[in-house]
Amino acid sequence: MTVVTRVAPSPTGDPHVGTAYVSLFNWAWAKRNGGRFILRIEDTDRARSRPEHEVQILEALAWLGIVPDESPAVGGPYAPYRQSERGALYAEHAQRLLASGRAYRCFCTSERLAALREEQKAAKADLGYDGLCRALDPAEAERRAASEEHVVRLAVDKAGTTRFIDLLRGEIVIENRTVDDQVLLKSDGMPTYHMANVVDDHLMGVTIIMRAEEWIPSVPKHVMLYDAFGWTPPTFAHVPLLRNADKSKISKRKNPTSLLWYREQGYLPEALLNFLALQGWRPDGDVELFDVDTFVERFEPSRISTGGPVFDLTKLDWVNGEKIRALAPGELARRLVSGGFAAGWTEERLLAVLPLFRERLVRLSDFADQARYLREAVEPCLDDLLPKIKKEDPGVVAAALAEAADLLEARAGQADEPREEALRALAASRGLKVGSLFMGLRVAVTGRGASPPLLPSIDLVGAAESARRVRELAARLVPAC
Ligand code: GLU
Repeated sequence: MTVVTRVAPSPTGDPHVGTAYVSLFNWAWAKRNGGRFILRIEDTDRARSRPEHEVQILEALAWLGIVPDESPAVGGPYAPYRQSERGALYAEHAQRLLASGRAYRCFCTSERLAALREEQKAAKADLGYDGLCRALDPAEAERRAASEEHVVRLAVDKAGTTRFIDLLRGEIVIENRTVDDQVLLKSDGMPTYHMANVVDDHLMGVTIIMRAEEWIPSVPKHVMLYDAFGWTPPTFAHVPLLRNADKSKISKRKNPTSLLWYREQGYLPEALLNFLALQGWRPDGDVELFDVDTFVERFEPSRISTGGPVFDLTKLDWVNGEKIRALAPGELARRLVSGGFAAGWTEERLLAVLPLFRERLVRLSDFADQARYLREAVEPCLDDLLPKIKKEDPGVVAAALAEAADLLEARAGQADEPREEALRALAASRGLKVGSLFMGLRVAVTGRGASPPLLPSIDLVGAAESARRVRELAARLVPAC
């Protein structure tokens, strides 16, 4: 049997990191088995769905290298892949359930439902529809349906239990009396999530549903629907939610959730994928860094761990830094340019300077700021310098810096070691700590107390320009009197 997986996002906001996470597992499993991975757009919430969000979802997944075999963009044998365009199918299927008595029309007004809810609350009874319209004669209901606003509900058999297997959790058993007569078609004729989801998963031939664990409470209704249609449900595997550090479901307030943000920050797609995979899956042992091909080769849905991982950006930063260092210099330059992280830099110039930066980059967006001193003089950060030289006499530091500026110009192009020796000797001759002199030079040339190695930086800035920056700082250190 061909493995068919799917992801079914609702286009109601920026493309969500959770969509990438769920897509990764589904895509990988289809790929590993030579199956199909479907992207279905669940846009039945007409008020909140926007076409631009659908476009963003597709683009964000493409950025990650997750390309669906079937989608609204590429089509496929079960098109359309947008639920808003599949209305006739849902209506037809609702009709089938009405005809077999597994669903019924409900004419209760929202006022009646609200009053019922209040009563149930006051009596501390279970909340849910009381089944009033179930007693209507079907022919009578059919007649009223022509002119009266109504919904279609699933006729849940309240006796007994519903069971299903979750691949990661084992058997889950639910008392049927706790399951509400779920609305399947709303009064505007639009299907609810449950109806559309089940009909589509069946018609599209989905064999395994991997989705977030927050959907587990919906599964009993889905299983009842499969049964009402006479269909066999697919396999269910509910993956752990991405969580904030306090274990709550990942939220905008506590973590960036938009995939656009991750791209803009300069996370590499392969780093984000590696990090997302780690949230629910690990290869054997302590290995944490792997590429997506390895993931695809070895991923096994039954081995997804359910142990509530924490979405930790520090960890993602670490993975990203490692992946950056794993890129060949030419590739790193290309990514910086194509991602818009190196405006004004040519690839050739980038190649010359990247050896100094690749060790220090956490996100690609760090580059422009870290390397700014190579393109222009950066205002020296005196807060980085002054605490380091507070035991020194500012006049001595200034004089040493001025002399160092001459030395750097005179020895332009010389190898690092002799220049460093000469600078050490210079500091010693003035009774200055070597560290104080080097910090002065570093802050003068790069603007910061922490920077790539000093002498290579000076070479890239140019000896004359470096010397000019050093003299300028020296002049600022001596109080004008
Ligand atoms: N539209 C649902 C969502 O946005 C799909 C849930 C499912 O995969 O069944 O998460």
